[in-house]
Amino acid sequence: MDRTSGLNSVVVLGATGSIGLQALEVASHLDLFIAGIAVNESVEKLAEFGRIYGDAALALASGSTVERRELAAEFGDRITFGQEAVTALATLSDSTVINGIVGSAGLSSSVAALEAGNRLALANKESLVAGGPVVEAARISGNAELIPVDSEHSALWQSLVGESHSSIRRLILTASGGPFRGRAKQEIECATVEEALAHPTWDMGPRVTIDSATLMNKAFEVIEAHYLFDVSYDAIDVVVHPQSIIHSLVEYVDGSVKAQLGEPDMRVPIQYAITYPDRVDAPVEPLDLTSGSLTFEKPDLQVFPCLQLGYAAGRSGDSAPAVLNASDEVAVEAFLQGRVEFADIPRIVESTLEAIPSISLSSVDDVLAVDAEARRFASSLVDSR
Ligand code: MG
Repeated sequence: MDRTSGLNSVVVLGATGSIGLQALEVASHLDLFIAGIAVNESVEKLAEFGRIYGDAALALASGSTVERRELAAEFGDRITFGQEAVTALATLSDSTVINGIVGSAGLSSSVAALEAGNRLALANKESLVAGGPVVEAARISGNAELIPVDSEHSALWQSLVGESHSSIRRLILTASGGPFRGRAKQEIECATVEEALAHPTWDMGPRVTIDSATLMNKAFEVIEAHYLFDVSYDAIDVVVHPQSIIHSLVEYVDGSVKAQLGEPDMRVPIQYAITYPDRVDAPVEPLDLTSGSLTFEKPDLQVFPCLQLGYAAGRSGDSAPAVLNASDEVAVEAFLQGRVEFADIPRIVESTLEAIPSISLSSVDDVLAVDAEARRFASSLVDSR
């Protein structure tokens, strides 16, 4: 592959997740060297990866002493353990780091990759949602590239190529609307886990799928877009587009609107984040514009209060988005365990946002401290229900 930057090796963090697995697939398709693979706790999967990608450095974030000993017996010096080991993989020189870690554990790896000057292909939401100011500082200090992998932000990124920042009037994020689009508020208050997990267009992990059902995922994406593109919240809109063909749009000052379209397939934004600014052949379904109509509607903020909570937290800035994210994660987890109702998710988030004062963030530790505080408070709300 013709890469001017000379980066031709990749590190995949969170390799057993939906993004991680697809990133390995894309890297194989592009014939790239897999320099590192990190997983959280899937010992057998990591061993399997270790055998397939014989030169990759391996990292296991958790795992028992026995499991670690067995892996060390097979892989010797190639494997390291603990959260620090995962973060260290992010600093392997001249690598594109694909961060598909789920949760706030992904933040330190994003910061480490950027500070090391590596290209960061970012799929971990928490990095920008919870740690936006810290990640931005790391990007500047490492003079590094941060390229979004999320389909919406990749679409914005692609629509912005060749344009200047001052030409932007508005960013328009599209949302599928999730499984409860068009439903009445009382209909979904007691929705089951199964109903909420039935996402119409994207196949993703459980948390992001529930976040799509509440539209909290879109709230996070608004905040991410704010940090990625330095655009004010007043100039970021959300439109519901159930077919998920237009992945997002940019409106310019002259009224022109540019968009990126394609069949929903995360391998496309993953590959683009690796090959940017080049485009390389990809084994994906071609878009058939005549196969159906594309429709658009306004999000119903009464039925989906999480979207407004996200804008409010984003506008508060500082640590409020970190509180939004942490309390949502606790609430979603409790919902998945059947401990709270679907309608409790925004209530828990709102109460936590009200209870925890916003502070400025200057380090990963600052973010993690706020994250822990918000989790404790949100957990106490779950326990009291
Ligand atoms: Mg998305």
